[in-house]
Amino acid sequence: MIRVRFAPSPTGMFHVGGARSALFNWALAEQSGGRFVLRIEDTDAARNRPEWTEGIISALAWIGVNGDSPFFEGPYFQSAYEEQHREAAAKLLADGRAYYCTCTRDDVKARTGSEHQGYDGFCRERGLTEGAVRFRTPDEGVTVVEDLVRGTVEFPNNAMEDFVIARGDGSPLFVLANVVDDVEMRISHVVRAEEHLSNTPKQQQLWEALGVTPPVWAHVPVIVNEKRQKLSKRRDKVALESYREEGYLAEAMVNYLMLLGWGTGEDREIMPWSEMMPRFKLEDVNPSSAFFDEKKLRAFNGEYIRALPLETFIARCEPWLEPDWDRETFAKVAELAQTRLAVLSEITANVDFLFLDEPVFDQASWDKAMKASAAEILTGYLARLETVDMDPESLKSALEEVGAEHGLKLGKAQAPVRVAITGRTVGLPLFESIEALGRERSADRIRAALARLEGAN
Ligand code: GLU
Repeated sequence: MIRVRFAPSPTGMFHVGGARSALFNWALAEQSGGRFVLRIEDTDAARNRPEWTEGIISALAWIGVNGDSPFFEGPYFQSAYEEQHREAAAKLLADGRAYYCTCTRDDVKARTGSEHQGYDGFCRERGLTEGAVRFRTPDEGVTVVEDLVRGTVEFPNNAMEDFVIARGDGSPLFVLANVVDDVEMRISHVVRAEEHLSNTPKQQQLWEALGVTPPVWAHVPVIVNEKRQKLSKRRDKVALESYREEGYLAEAMVNYLMLLGWGTGEDREIMPWSEMMPRFKLEDVNPSSAFFDEKKLRAFNGEYIRALPLETFIARCEPWLEPDWDRETFAKVAELAQTRLAVLSEITANVDFLFLDEPVFDQASWDKAMKASAAEILTGYLARLETVDMDPESLKSALEEVGAEHGLKLGKAQAPVRVAITGRTVGLPLFESIEALGRERSADRIRAALARLEGAN
């Protein structure tokens, strides 16, 4: 049975790169009827916080990696397994694969003359009975890592120092704890970020020294921004939660994340999880860095929004509507808005004019629209609004006529009316907006804009 794991450290917001690794693992578990083990690597007590763990679990559930699924196992907490980590260190010591060492960093530096020099093996044969525990690495040969994404990667053993696996107080280091947990949890495939490739020869040595066949390795490519820099939480928007809050749909996010390093193998990139999941193969993952293109993600999201049944779209907009906004009025324009949004949070600015006493005036829109014959257009349209039929066609013809009287095409004549009605130069189609707002309120808005214009002059 394929047993994969996702092993985040709960030290910050849940990173989109983590989400991508989780999804790759999830696809493998689901397509094979295997297991996806969630292991929270919470051994760094100084940096861990319980809310980050909760954030990870809820973000995973959001992208469909759901604790209720039969393919899901855990969460396990690494801190609960310290006994096993200590036992493994003891076994390696007993087998002569590890030794105690009491050298400080300064000792090593004094002997080797450099800070960058690896450990010089000073304590290897000293037979100490306490201290930090170092793994005895082979002096010669190479450690060959077979990586499903990267191919065969060779690491010369003479470049691998005798690395520390447990501190002087017996507490395990990441390199050991991570392996022991993978062994105990019978992990068959380790699919994780490229940054861990450099740990892999050490970890493979540990697996072998513990007498267990190493797992299949697959290191998935780093994710970079438009400057080809690795995505960083200080510089880039990396938290999955911030995309959720902005109104990205989980389906679109999942689709987009899966394409960071992998392709559907077809012209079609927009594909639901049910179709991507069985197609996914580690062998098809591209080792070169993957560009996180927010523009493309927005376009994906817009497509997913447009594909929603109207009722679902309306329901998904709920978090961005104020409680006192009339839902019937909203339902009338929802379909118009659905075709225009890239992210759900944009719904607010598209429809708020319907519910507020006064539209929120966007100053740049105002300055752009309210010039030249704006006052005449508004005055002319205000007069027509008294009698015009309140359907989009009639509302449009009326404005065309007013425009023509001032030598303006509809496009130009629309601008001041649109800003008077909605406060902005872009938004829902104007005549449908006026219809939804109603005769009285539309007329009031035009009067208010005229007064504002006069005040400005
Ligand atoms: N806790 C490690 C991390 O978050 C996991 C490494 C691994 O997947 O082996 O980077």
